[in-house]
Amino acid sequence: MLTLASILITTALLSLVMAIVLGSLLRSNVPGVREWFASNLMVVISLPLLALRDLIPDFISIVIANSVLALAAAYYYVGCARFVRQPSRWSLLLGSIALIALSLIIWRYAINSIPARVLIMTIFFAVVCISASVLLLRYKPPHRNPYNYWFAAILPLVFAVCQLIRGIYFITLNEPSTTMMFNSFWNIVLMVVGAVTLPTMTMAAVMLTHDAMLANLEDAANHDHLTEALSRKRLEEVAREHIMRATNFGRPLSLLIIDLDHFKRINDTYGHAGGDEVLREFTRITRASLRDGDALGRLGGEEFGVLLPNTDTAGAFAIAKRLREQSEVHLVTGTFGECHYSVSIGIATWQEGETFDRLSARADRALYSAKNSGRNRVLADEQSMDESVAAAA
Ligand code: GH3
Ligand code: MG
Ligand code: MG
Repeated sequence: MLTLASILITTALLSLVMAIVLGSLLRSNVPGVREWFASNLMVVISLPLLALRDLIPDFISIVIANSVLALAAAYYYVGCARFVRQPSRWSLLLGSIALIALSLIIWRYAINSIPARVLIMTIFFAVVCISASVLLLRYKPPHRNPYNYWFAAILPLVFAVCQLIRGIYFITLNEPSTTMMFNSFWNIVLMVVGAVTLPTMTMAAVMLTHDAMLANLEDAANHDHLTEALSRKRLEEVAREHIMRATNFGRPLSLLIIDLDHFKRINDTYGHAGGDEVLREFTRITRASLRDGDALGRLGGEEFGVLLPNTDTAGAFAIAKRLREQSEVHLVTGTFGECHYSVSIGIATWQEGETFDRLSARADRALYSAKNSGRNRVLADEQSMDESVAAAA
């Protein structure tokens, strides 16, 4: 029993270390971290109780210890489910744990069978771990690196296989049901593999948490907080990608710069909250009327940029006209009252060899002309117009 007890205590200590690591991530608010943390605490509590078999009452070292260990597995599953925003299935899990506790009582006090007790526990661990693994792979966020998810999904599978082999191994043992069964060579080997896998599963959970935190940071850096349009930085990155594609494949690319007219007046009349609502609403209806590959970003204040890949000046004109018209008739309502607004739009179509800065300077000039010629209108910069006329001729 000494070998087995040392494996159990070592695993409990490693789980304690992992609980401390996860504890440092509790403030991250990433869904699932609290449950993974709780899972490790349950392991820390249950394994020493298992190790104290024959030294403390069997009810504690068998029924309670194994039930708490099953709860650890349940918390692990719920952590994975919360992480990928899927139902936690607590009632099913708690019902199963109650049945497990009952079976443990029966197979200890009615019929004393260690193989039956080991089998029920290993089947539960295997089912829970396989389900967690499937969840992680099935609901992996589409734009994240799959490496962390595969790592996190393979480990519970290893644990599940290990547990199933243990269960089957125990029912094939043809010897009296005594604690000596636990010291058999193959049980020790499988316990060691499990002892290595268990804390590693938490390490994978830590990796997933870091990835989720990184995704949140990227999302915050790439989007404008108020309108959820792309940030200026992200729009510039997207523009560079489009320019590279336009260069390689000779496809047209247009840029619209849109500025809300007399926005100071809107703020003065409806308050800053009213102005914010106009910005949000403008973004919402503009995004809804753009194509999937188009990109809308907030350049600052009440100025927005729209990148239109595969679109020449005539196409950009048609889109800009539609955006201007829908803004003109759009009524924004809220606690501040009802507000109409209009936009002015400058268009520039990318020319070979041109940088994004030069392209946006031309669109800006067109916008400036649109403002000077009365606002609520669309103008393309002269160069784009010349080329458009030349192409049509
Ligand atoms: P123009 O027609 O020439 O564009 O006039 P304008 O008043 O829209 O232009 P100007 O650039 O002079 O003023 C823009 C105003 O937009 C000033 C600023 O207070 C306001 N603004 C900038 N960012 C925000 C924001 O996030 N929310 C709100 N409510 N107002 C903003
Ligand atoms: Mg303005
Ligand atoms: Mg402005």
